[in-house]
Amino acid sequence: MSTSRSPAMSSPASSSSTSDAETLRRSRILKSKLYFDVPPSKVPVIYSSSYDIAFLGMEKLHPFDSSKWRRICGFLISDGALDKKCIVEPREASKDDLLVIHSESYLNSLKNSANVARIIEVPPVALLPNCLVEQKVLSPFRNQVGGTILAPKLAKEQGWAINVGGGFHHCSGGKGGGFCVYADISLCILYAFVWLNISRVMIIDLDAHQGNGHELDFADDRRVYILDMYNPGIYPFDYEARRYIDQKVEVASGTTTNEYLKKLDEALKVAGSKFDPELVVYNAGTDILDGDPLGRLKVSPDGIANRDEKVFRFARERNIPIVMLTSGGYMKSNARIIADSMINLSKKRLIDMGKNAT
Ligand SMILES: [Zn+2]
Repeated sequence: MSTSRSPAMSSPASSSSTSDAETLRRSRILKSKLYFDVPPSKVPVIYSSSYDIAFLGMEKLHPFDSSKWRRICGFLISDGALDKKCIVEPREASKDDLLVIHSESYLNSLKNSANVARIIEVPPVALLPNCLVEQKVLSPFRNQVGGTILAPKLAKEQGWAINVGGGFHHCSGGKGGGFCVYADISLCILYAFVWLNISRVMIIDLDAHQGNGHELDFADDRRVYILDMYNPGIYPFDYEARRYIDQKVEVASGTTTNEYLKKLDEALKVAGSKFDPELVVYNAGTDILDGDPLGRLKVSPDGIANRDEKVFRFARERNIPIVMLTSGGYMKSNARIIADSMINLSKKRLIDMGKNAT
C-alpha cells in the first residue's frame, strides 16, 4: 500500500522531492475549475443528473439502488422542500484534479474494465469495452467527486453543504475498492487546505463500514482528525488503516437505535474536547439502517434523522462549516430516508433549503 500515501502528507517537507510533489499538487489545485462561484440564489445542495449510473440493465445485477441520488432530489422537490432551480450543479473532476491524490498508475489501471468491475463489485462490467465503462460508470463517479470537492467552498460561504452523492471512503490515492473508485473525501480536504486556507479538518465517518481510504491518505497528517464509528465485523477489515483513526468507536452487528445514538452522543462530546476543526466532513452513509444486508446494524429511519441532526448540531452550534456526503446505503428505501432526514434538518433550522419547512 506504499502508493496510497503521498510523501508530502506522511512526513514534513524535508526532502526536495517531497516539496516538488507538494508544489505540483498545489499548482494542480489552484488551476482546477472545480471551485467556481455560485450565485446566492442557489442552495448548497449539490447534484447533477450526470451522477446516475444506469446502463444496459446491468445495474440490476448489483444489489445497489444506482439511482439513489436522483431519487433523493426527486423526493425533496416533490415534497416542496427544495426548488429544482436552486440545486448546484458541479463540474466533472478532470484527470489533473484526480492526480492531486491518485497516482498515474492507479488512474491507468481503470482503463482495464476488469479492474473497475472488481472495485465496484459488479463482475459483468469486466466484459464491457472500456469506453463504455468510462462513459457510464467512471464519468458519473467523477461528477460526484466534483460535487464533493466543491462542497467545502459552499459550506464555508453558507455554513453547510450537502453533496447528494459522494462519500467514497474505501478509496485511497493508490487503491480503490468497495464500490469506491475515486478518493473524493481526501481530495475535498486537500482542496480546502489550499483554497480555503484552513489547516484543521474533522472527518466524522458514520457509514457502517470503516473509512479505510481517507485513513490511509491522512495516516500521519495531524491536520485531519478522524472519528470513525463502524461495524468491525464487516468489510474492509483494514487493520493497518485502523491504526490511523484518531477516535475509533466500534459498533457490533445488531446494535440498535438507542445504543447507537448513545455511543454517538458520547463520541461527539469527546471529539469536541479533543479537536477544534475549521471544517467538518460528515460521511453520512445510511447502511446503518435496520435490514441493510451489508451494514448489519439495526438503526431505524428516525434514528438516522436523529443521527444527522446530532452531527449538524455539533457543527452548527460551534459555527464550523459542515459538508455532508451520502456515501453507502443502497437499498430502495434509503433515498426516501435521506430526503426525510434533510427535511428534518430544515425543520430544525440546521439547514435552509430556501423553502419554509413547517
Ligand atoms: Zn458502507
